[in-house]
Amino acid sequence: MAIAKKTPAEIAIHRFEYAPAPEATDHIKVEPRYSLFIGGRMLEPHSKKRFPTINPATEEQLSEVAEADEVDVDHAVVAADKAFGPWSRLSPSRRARYLFRISRLIQERARELAVVETMDGGKPIKESRDVDIPLAAAHFFYYAGWADKLDWAFPNRKPRPLGVAGQVIPWNFPLLMLAWKIAPALAAGNTVVLKPAETTPLSAMLFADICRQAELPPGTVNIVTGAGKTGSLVVSHPGVRKVAFTGSTEVGKLIQRSLAGSGKRLTLELGGKAANIVFEDAPLDAAVEGIVNGIYFNQGHVCCAGSRLLVQESIAEPLLEKLKVRLSTLRLGDPLDKNTDIGAINSKAQLEKIEGMVASGIEEGAEIYQPECKLPDRGYWFKPTLFTNVSQSYRIAREEIFGPVLSVLTFRTPAEAVEKANNTPYGLSAGVWTDKGSRILWMAERMRAGVVWANTFNRFDPSSPFGGYKESGFGREGGLHGLLPYLELN
Ligand code: NDP
Repeated sequence: MAIAKKTPAEIAIHRFEYAPAPEATDHIKVEPRYSLFIGGRMLEPHSKKRFPTINPATEEQLSEVAEADEVDVDHAVVAADKAFGPWSRLSPSRRARYLFRISRLIQERARELAVVETMDGGKPIKESRDVDIPLAAAHFFYYAGWADKLDWAFPNRKPRPLGVAGQVIPWNFPLLMLAWKIAPALAAGNTVVLKPAETTPLSAMLFADICRQAELPPGTVNIVTGAGKTGSLVVSHPGVRKVAFTGSTEVGKLIQRSLAGSGKRLTLELGGKAANIVFEDAPLDAAVEGIVNGIYFNQGHVCCAGSRLLVQESIAEPLLEKLKVRLSTLRLGDPLDKNTDIGAINSKAQLEKIEGMVASGIEEGAEIYQPECKLPDRGYWFKPTLFTNVSQSYRIAREEIFGPVLSVLTFRTPAEAVEKANNTPYGLSAGVWTDKGSRILWMAERMRAGVVWANTFNRFDPSSPFGGYKESGFGREGGLHGLLPYLELN
């Protein structure tokens, strides 16, 4: 007797329902308004302007943050410059102690930081709790370890700090990106002016409080909130010796152009359109988990997201069937619920961008699949989406969508996989799924990607350098390499 096969939608209906398990928020104190963290104090902005920051899952205002203008940014750079002398002359082991202290404080306040990160950015609490915050603490811990070993790290080179670092970060991993920027800069003896993203400033404001708790010398870290204009004031300030930027390729190019000839050091960590390549000998169930983690983690707001699935033609059908079933079991909804897999899209603007890209995919002829799932009435949401019948020329196969949208392409031979994987202006990351170690090495050698994951995806470690080729930017963050952009080596 033939057994009737269930469609993904039928399986979804029969999935287990979980009781709501929202993370408590009563231990969180979000101030109604925040000022600028300059010279170790919270200062009223000269601009006298503030803007709201909202919870993208509810559209409710959480707080108001200051908008730093030219005078404010100048105050911050002057404070950082004043702090640079004493900080850079401090004995390296004392500098390390401050970084260890910050790391410990992040661990102690992890629950609070995770909840605020989720409320301000929309990411599921299980991700902010288990990924963002522990990795942020690990970064400070890791670079604390280097602070007093720079002479051994770069033997016979006399490493010296550069001065004030101007750092601009995006909204997808707010505290983690802050840690990627601030930890190596401080470990190398520099001081910092950092601008968080307009839509996610709150964890940076909590970090300002952590700096005060750690008794970090005033001015060593300064945080100026604002929009893109504030970011451009930070990077163009003549007192800034080194610029570190993570964000879109478009703004990265603008910054690179504006800094040409200034003598400032620059590192850019920009967009991506990573290929996640599955060979026919791959363990399919594990690969499905890797694909889901690759593109639906953090709603796909990930620069190294595996947004192009390249699957060997012979297994395309069974793999896609498994993937669709898995998609139908993902839970979308309240980001503060511990069982939520897909949270809210970070902002209305980002939602509109995703909707526009998805519409272009349909228009160009790709076939869309979205599981049945109810979207909450308020907030910004987008269903996990997958496109088949995608041609390499489609916008959804070429441009960064930065949302939970996967484009599926097929290949027949390893050489074709390499060619398709490299057929992108970006070069940040890639994934290879196969049973053969020799094939992993063969593929990794040929792919123009800063990181190649083998039989896994989206794994991060502070000791491992991360960065891109081509339009994904230049310079490396993490590991020993992450110190180099912050040092002069004689
Ligand atoms: P942006 O590149 O505009 O933002 C990144 C950071 O740069 C933010 O802090 C932003 O401030 C700031 N910024 C904006 N303009 C300037 C400027 N001229 N000079 C200096 N700093 C500036 O990204 P968006 O937030 O606008 O997102 C747009 C698209 O970029 C996304 O859809 C996604 O595709 C991509 N993106 C990629 C990221 C990555 O890691 N690869 C991260 C974020 C976005 P503010 O937030 O106030 O605008």
